[in-house]
Amino acid sequence: MDISFIRLDEHVARFILSGTTPAFANSFRRAMISEVPTLAIEDVMIYDNNSALFDEILAHRLGLIPLKTDLTAYVRRDECSCDGEGCSSCQAIYTLSVEGVEGGKTVYSSDLIPQDPNTIPVDANIPLVKLEMDQKVVLEARAELNTGKEHAKWESTLACGYKSYPIIKVDDRCDACGMCVEECPKGVLVLKPGNKFVEVADGKLESCSLCKLCEHACIAGGIGNEPAIHIISDNTRYIFVVESDGSLPVNVIMERAFLYIKEKSESLIDVLSDISGRIVNEES
Ligand code: SF4
Ligand code: SF4
Ligand SMILES: [Zn+2]
Repeated sequence: MDISFIRLDEHVARFILSGTTPAFANSFRRAMISEVPTLAIEDVMIYDNNSALFDEILAHRLGLIPLKTDLTAYVRRDECSCDGEGCSSCQAIYTLSVEGVEGGKTVYSSDLIPQDPNTIPVDANIPLVKLEMDQKVVLEARAELNTGKEHAKWESTLACGYKSYPIIKVDDRCDACGMCVEECPKGVLVLKPGNKFVEVADGKLESCSLCKLCEHACIAGGIGNEPAIHIISDNTRYIFVVESDGSLPVNVIMERAFLYIKEKSESLIDVLSDISGRIVNEES
C-alpha cells in the first residue's frame, strides 16, 4: 500500500491511496470520520442566562464549537487514571461571562476563556447569542475527548471522501466527432488538431468524476450500443480529500485512523487465533 500526497497542509489533505482494496479504503474513511477523538463541550453549568435563548439551545451551540485538541495531553475520561471523576488530563474547563450593552452585543466563541490556552476554540468568530441591554450570560463549560461515533460534535473532519482512480480508454472506433468533449463537465477530454481520436487533456485525468456522460454522448452520436470511450474505476487506487475542522492537524487525523485500524485488526487476529486454537484442542 502506498500514499502519495497531491496537497498536504494543516487543514486539507488530498492524496492517492494505492495498492489497496475497496473495503480498506472505506474502513479508512470511516475511521477518520468516527474513530479519531477530539475535544468538545459536554457539560455546561449556567449561572445566569436571561438572553432570548433557552439554556438548552445555548449549551447545544457551545457543544458544536470546534476546540483545539492536543491528543498527547488529554485522554478519554473513561480511560483516565481519575476513574472518570474528571481531572486536568481528561477535561478542559472554560468560563464565559458577557453582559449586553445598549444597541446589543453578540457573544462569540472567543468569549469562552479556557483554563488551558492550548484548548481555545478553533475559530474566534462563531456567534453564540445576541445580548440586549441588561441581558447577560454567565456559565462554566467542561469539554472532554470522545469520537464522532458517539456524537457528530466530536467529529474531527468537515469533509472526508474518496473516489476510485479513473481509467479512460478510447478504442479505434472513435471518429473524433468531439461530442464527448462538449459533454464532459470537467474539461477532462480534448481533441488536439490533427489527431484522429479524442484523448485526456494534460493533467486532467484526476478531475474525472466517473460520471460517464462522455459514454452516453458517444452512444447518442450513433456509434452503436457500445461507446468508443470507456470509463473504468480502478479498484486498487483511490483519490481522497480530507478536511479537518481545525481541532487536529489533518496528518494527525490520518495517523490516528491508521492506528485505530491496526489495533482493531490485531485484536481480530487474537480472537481468531484463540477460536482456531480452541477448535484444534477440541478436535484432538
Ligand atoms: S466520466 Fe464524466 S468527468 Fe470523466 S471524462 Fe467522462 S464526462 Fe468527463
Ligand atoms: S464521442 Fe465517441 S466517437 Fe466522438 S470523439 Fe468522443 S469517443 Fe470519439
Ligand atoms: Zn481524569
